[in-house]
Amino acid sequence: MRRASNRLRWAGLLTLALLAASPQAAELTQQLVEARAAKLYAERLNDHVLDADARFTTRVTTIAASLIARARRDYPETAGWNWEVHTTDDPDQNADCMAGGKILVSKAYVQRLELVDAELAMLLAHEIEHAALHHNLKEYQQALRLDPRWAERPFLELEHAVDHDDALIDQLAATNYEQEVEADREGMQLAWRAGWPPERLAGYFRKMFRESASPRRSKPDYPSPLMRWQAARTLAAALQKNQVQAPD
Ligand SMILES: [Zn+2]
Repeated sequence: MRRASNRLRWAGLLTLALLAASPQAAELTQQLVEARAAKLYAERLNDHVLDADARFTTRVTTIAASLIARARRDYPETAGWNWEVHTTDDPDQNADCMAGGKILVSKAYVQRLELVDAELAMLLAHEIEHAALHHNLKEYQQALRLDPRWAERPFLELEHAVDHDDALIDQLAATNYEQEVEADREGMQLAWRAGWPPERLAGYFRKMFRESASPRRSKPDYPSPLMRWQAARTLAAALQKNQVQAPD
């Protein structure tokens, strides 16, 4: 999952005034991506009833805190982020972490998959890795490489296009596929370093597989649930078998 956010937020926002104020895509930086994420996250929070279930919210924030603490050590830049964690009951959301550490988790999604704590940790770690690895920035950079004409256009047009322009979405599918694989792999290792047992982390992918209507079907921008579960089991077994101690 990546950037559910912008996809939902864009309708009606692409006004001339906004575009006139937008920097050119050529000025793309991680700072710019984080500033946009902070703004869009604040708007999403305004659109949702937040943290309504105190027990669920405490469960999510506690698990997220262990992962964020680890991320702040492993990715020193993220120690300076203003991390935020909120929950919603919205069944149309699942979970995501926007650039700069802005997390939103849907209780409906966690309940539907019946995730236990380690599996919720795996879900959160995957999302945290998207942010820590600058996946949004890298996707924009790839769009600029694929078509350098983007550099002359407002960044907000590019932001809109990566979610709405079918031709660009097709061009970026391979990048997104690789980012999903990377977030799965690095997410499991982040959660393992934070102290979670790898074979229990892999349980998240078993439940995703079980819940999927088409568990064997990959998409251009997503490996199939079956492939993700197999990869997770293989990595978990390697972490176990080598009897590698999670570093302190
Ligand atoms: Zn993802």
